[in-house]
Amino acid sequence: MDFSRLRRDMVEEQISNRGITNKRILSAFLEVPREEFVPSNMRRYAYKDGPVSIGFGQTISQPYMSALMIECLDPQPTDKILEIGTGLGYQSAVLSRLSRIIYTVERIPELAKQAKVILDKLGYDNVIVKVGDGTLGWSEFAPYDKIIVAAAAPNVPIRLLQQLKEGGRMVIPVGHRYSQILKIISKLSNGEVVEKEETPCIFVPLIGEDGWQE
Ligand code: SAH
Repeated sequence: MDFSRLRRDMVEEQISNRGITNKRILSAFLEVPREEFVPSNMRRYAYKDGPVSIGFGQTISQPYMSALMIECLDPQPTDKILEIGTGLGYQSAVLSRLSRIIYTVERIPELAKQAKVILDKLGYDNVIVKVGDGTLGWSEFAPYDKIIVAAAAPNVPIRLLQQLKEGGRMVIPVGHRYSQILKIISKLSNGEVVEKEETPCIFVPLIGEDGWQE
């Protein structure tokens, strides 16, 4: 299969034609080989216009949803980003093209391990993966300029809010188990928190101490 052709079509038809025009974001999506971030038996579906199964009941997000979240996050070249829900590391790789360093937390050890292998192999060396409960954040490297959560939360986890810099921003799907609203949470320089609702969405559940029970 001609994956670079499929990738160009994906960026044009699924992302740019739907209104995401930021040049840096589009080139990051053009650059990262999505077919490397799905299990080998799913490779032919890597560029489909929807989520794709990556095993353990989890999915790689739909390209457009990932692009929309990243646009909402507004990553800057100097940003230190915390990502919750690594999966196999696709979105981490895209973010690594847009910002200085990406700390990413995955709950399922097998996925985190495979993500590390793929990211290493492709040379995305500004992505640091750890296994853990992302609802607790990653306090060691806090505070973060931006936080992006790729799984659906019942509420905004307090630790994530605490680990966000003043002037920083978090993008997170919040709501019920099977339907959510993508929210943009901004922490102003006076510490005040402002929420904006972006769009309805459906993500796999964020499971952990300050998320859903298993
Ligand atoms: N960012 C991924 C999407 C992965 S789907 C991509 O680009 O493809 C969401 C991931 O969140 C799943 O792998 C799931 O295991 C993980 N997850 C769920 N709850 C979590 C938690 N509390 N901490 C860390 N990861 C979690």
